[in-house]
Amino acid sequence: MKQRLLFLGPPGAGKGTQAQRLAEQQGLLHLSTGDLLRAEVAAGTPLGQEAEAVMARGELVSDALVLAIVRSRLEQQAAAGGGGWLLDGFPRNVTQADALAHLLDELGQQIEQVVLMELDDAVLIERLLARGRADDNEQVIRHRLEVYRQQTAPLIAYYQDRGLLAPVEASGTVEAIGQRILTLLG
Ligand code: ADP
Repeated sequence: MKQRLLFLGPPGAGKGTQAQRLAEQQGLLHLSTGDLLRAEVAAGTPLGQEAEAVMARGELVSDALVLAIVRSRLEQQAAAGGGGWLLDGFPRNVTQADALAHLLDELGQQIEQVVLMELDDAVLIERLLARGRADDNEQVIRHRLEVYRQQTAPLIAYYQDRGLLAPVEASGTVEAIGQRILTLLG
């Protein structure tokens, strides 16, 4: 099975849920930049303090900051002997995608597949409101969807051009979606 994966899709599409399941099943390193940033915020680190207000507004935190987080984790894994990974919530714009390509060149690694999870806006908003995280109020959700469309959605064409994109229908049960993803990674 393919082992170096990106999960792409709007907030609320279920990336985190599916990424965690798949990483567990397949023994992959699961790197969620959102989770890692929230851990920094909770720990009150300088990095967390820098990120907190930006996240609460639904904007993207600085490319340098998220890139530093991802770089340190991937370098650590490579130094410990390598293995598969699943990046969830990163990259989120073309600058981050270019930086990731550069980092992977350095590590002698390659993305094997980009899983695109897509869903109607109405369903996304409903799911996010039900989740109720600190940045899940309606105004911030609408802004996050806007940021996704403007900054992250261009990555669909970016990875399609590189022959890496695999879209998956993100509606149905967690199990059904998980099975679809497994099939396309076969
Ligand atoms: P969701 O996909 O539901 O929006 P995430 O947990 O992936 O949730 O991200 C939450 C917030 O963390 C984002 O709105 C953004 O502020 C910040 N964030 C996460 N990943 C990145 C990234 N790669 N670049 C910039 N900001 C990020």
